[in-house]
Amino acid sequence: MKNNEPSPLPSNESAVLHRSLKSLPHNVTSASGSYLTLDNGCKILDACGGAAVAVIGHGNAEVMHAAVAQMREYTTSAAERLAKCILEPLPSSTYFDHGLTKVYLVGSGSEANDAALKCAKQYWFEQGEPQRKVYVTREQAYHGGTIGAMSISAFVNRLVLEIEQVFERVGAKNTISFSGESVSGAALGSMLAPQGYWPAVRALCDKHGILLHLDEVMCGMGRTGTYFAFEQEGIKPDIVTIGKGLGGGFAPISAMIVNDKVLGALRRGTSSFNHGHTFQAHAMCCAIALQVQRIVKRQQLVERCAEMGDKLAKLLDEAFHGAKHVAERRGRGLFQSVEFMLDPRTKTPFSKDIEFGAKIQLATFDLGVAVYPGAGTVDGVVGDHVLVAPPYTVSDEELELTVKALRKAYNEVVWVLFRAQDLKL
Ligand SMILES: *Cc1c(COP(=O)(O)O)cnc(C)c1O
Repeated sequence: MKNNEPSPLPSNESAVLHRSLKSLPHNVTSASGSYLTLDNGCKILDACGGAAVAVIGHGNAEVMHAAVAQMREYTTSAAERLAKCILEPLPSSTYFDHGLTKVYLVGSGSEANDAALKCAKQYWFEQGEPQRKVYVTREQAYHGGTIGAMSISAFVNRLVLEIEQVFERVGAKNTISFSGESVSGAALGSMLAPQGYWPAVRALCDKHGILLHLDEVMCGMGRTGTYFAFEQEGIKPDIVTIGKGLGGGFAPISAMIVNDKVLGALRRGTSSFNHGHTFQAHAMCCAIALQVQRIVKRQQLVERCAEMGDKLAKLLDEAFHGAKHVAERRGRGLFQSVEFMLDPRTKTPFSKDIEFGAKIQLATFDLGVAVYPGAGTVDGVVGDHVLVAPPYTVSDEELELTVKALRKAYNEVVWVLFRAQDLKL
C-alpha cells in the first residue's frame, strides 16, 4: 500500500466501531466537575457519570497528578495500597467487620465476575468437591418477574423459594455459588431486594454450603450511601466484585474481593489462585483508583452520597407526584431510577417499539442533562426506566436542575405521544 493512498473510509465516517452504525455519539471536548462540554459548544450536566462511574466528578487535578507521579516512578506498590484502602472500613461505618481479606485487581467488571466464578470453582476443587459445576444466578429467578403487582412479602418468599427449587433441581451438592447484585443496576433500574431477601439467601447458601457472590460492580463503592451496598442488607458475602466507581471513570479498573473462608481453602490447598490477565493490577490504574478512593474517604463522599441521595429521591418524588405514566421512583443513595408504564395501576408497560425510556433520555439530553436509559425492565423485553446516578460531589442546584429537566422531558415525550389529555401536570 502506498503512503499517499486515500483512506478507505469516507471523511464523515468514524473508524471506531460504535454500538450504533446509524448514528454517531457526541464528541466531548472537555469535562469538569459535573459537566461535559461537547464539540458543538453545549454544556451537559452529567447526571449519570457514564454508567455510574464518575464518583468525584470529571477533570480532577489530584488524580491527574497521581497518574503522572505513577508514570514517573513506575513503582508497583500502588496495587498494595489500593487493596488496603478498599478493605479498610470507613470511619463512619457501623459495619467494621465485613470479613473480606484479599483483593484481586482486574480491568473490568466482567473480568472481576469471571475471576469470582473461577475462584469459587477452585474453592470447591481445593475442598475435594470437583463435582460442583453449577452456578446459580438471580437472572433466572428474576426472569419475567419484576416488582410488578407482587406484595413485598410474597416477593421475598417467591424469590427465595425459587432459588431453593433451583438448588434442589440441580442438587445443592453440585452447586458452586449463588450470584446476585446487592442492588440491581442498569437492567432493573436500581431495584432493591425486598427487606429480608438477602438474609434469607445467605441462610439458604449456608444451609447448603454454597458460596454467596455479590456483584457490586455498579451499586458498590459508596453509590448507595455505604461503601459496600451489602452493609445495608445486614449480610456478609464470601466474594464481592466491584468496578465502575472504583476508578471514578479515570481508569478501567475493577476487583474481586474474597473472605477468609475462600482464602483459607486456597491456602490449605494449592496455595495459589489459578487465574491471570495481562493487565491485572495495572500500576497506573491502581494509582489512579487509589487517589480517587483517597478523595472519597477524605471528603467523606460516601456519607455525602447518602445525604444527597435522600435529597434526590425527595426531589424526584415531588416532581413526579401524580404523573400518569410513572410507576415508581426507587433506589438508594445517588442511585435512583424512575420507572415508566402506560398504566401503572394495571402494571401495563409501554410497548417496546415506543422506546419510552430512550425517548425520555434523549429529551432530557436535549435539555442539557445526561441520564441513563433502561429498557426491558419488566421481563427483559418490555419496560422502561431512567437511572440517575450523579457524582457524589453533585451540588443541590445540580440535583434540582437534573430533576427539573427530567420532568420537563417527561412532559414533552408524553405530549408528543398522547397529546394534552394525558398530561396531569
Ligand atoms: C457494568 C456491570 C458489569 C460489567 O462490568 P464491565 O466493566 O462493563 O465489564 C457487571 N456487573 C454489573 C452489576 C454491572 O453493572
